[in-house]
Amino acid sequence: MTMSQNLTERYAASLMNTFGPPKLVLTRGEGAYVWDADGRRYLDLLGGIAVNALGHAHPALVAAVTEQLSTLGHVSNFFATVPQVALAERLLDLLEVGPGGGKVFFTNSGSEANEAALKLTRRTGRTHLVAAEGSFHGRTMGALALTSKAAYREPFEPLPGQVTFVPYGDADALAAAVTDETAAVVLEPVQGEAGVIIAPEGYLARAREITTAHGALLWFDEVQSGMGRTGEWMAHTGSGVTPDLVTLAKGLAGGIPVGACIGVGAAGELLQPGNHGTTFGGNPVAAAAALAVIETIEKDGLLENARLVGARLAEGLRHPHVTAIRQRGLLIGLDLDAEVAPQVAAAARERGFIINDCAPGRIRLAPPLVLTEAQADEVVAAWPGILEAGYAAGQ
Ligand code: PLP
Repeated sequence: MTMSQNLTERYAASLMNTFGPPKLVLTRGEGAYVWDADGRRYLDLLGGIAVNALGHAHPALVAAVTEQLSTLGHVSNFFATVPQVALAERLLDLLEVGPGGGKVFFTNSGSEANEAALKLTRRTGRTHLVAAEGSFHGRTMGALALTSKAAYREPFEPLPGQVTFVPYGDADALAAAVTDETAAVVLEPVQGEAGVIIAPEGYLARAREITTAHGALLWFDEVQSGMGRTGEWMAHTGSGVTPDLVTLAKGLAGGIPVGACIGVGAAGELLQPGNHGTTFGGNPVAAAAALAVIETIEKDGLLENARLVGARLAEGLRHPHVTAIRQRGLLIGLDLDAEVAPQVAAAARERGFIINDCAPGRIRLAPPLVLTEAQADEVVAAWPGILEAGYAAGQ
């Protein structure tokens, strides 16, 4: 029995079966590569699902975490810490509102950031929310209520709240759904889990007009699309739109769990003492990790790298079996002309590449922002063989 087989059996005996059997047992990572328990190397084009912004074991991240842990590892949120305050300031700068122009509540995950935002919207005195078809906002009960996928929702109904779903990208449908009773409209500027669905030109600006006209909050869930993933700090950067709420997590600290719910302007004042809390959110080690990620993205030009390498990779993945490619930075979605994405992902793993089948006919790539052109070219060279093997297995 190999070490991978051994671990897979022990996993099945001791972990809840929420993810199905593990596809690999991974023991080590460096840069954009990971190794399995049997010593095989893979180019990681999933990056912990858009989390490992700096790749694996990046020296700057390791140093920041080690230093902070040996200085002050954790204190109660009754106290302020230097990294937590510095991170809040940096995030407000990245949102182009600056300290005082907004306020941050730190969490441990994307779902929790969305739960905080959801509670914050209740402080408007309204309860109605509008979300988009194809949305994914997490699996905790509140975040799930905003997530459209029936398979995720149905086993847990009734879900809390009063949510109307509208087709993503259709500004007229949004205008028809938002009323003076609407607390907030929540949108992903790029829908990640749905397969990298990019907001059409002008949609976010129309959403801003519609919400402003009805006194509703505009909330961008940038948990997957934010923090440099799309080659900009936020996927909505450059849209000219200032939202009231932004939620972040995933890439924020490059793999150390942290999320953020950011209220811009008056929205930042809606949660008052006693309204919300957390034991771990914004823990100094997580905050120091996030600061190191932001600094490294800036120092090493990783936003530009994401744009250049992402475009090169997407271009190289064109193929007669690929009917659509959607790319923003290093977030790439591909549609196949058959429902063989799981077989294609398995064929990729057999050839040393980790990719994600996010739907039966859809592939998603979200590699580390440090991915090099040479590594993108490795994928491109292997791609026709991966597709051929995947189609042969699936049909
Ligand atoms: N929001 C978006 C847009 C996401 O993509 C995800 C996770 O994929 C979440 C929220 C939930 O984040 P987490 O898994 O950290 O709870």
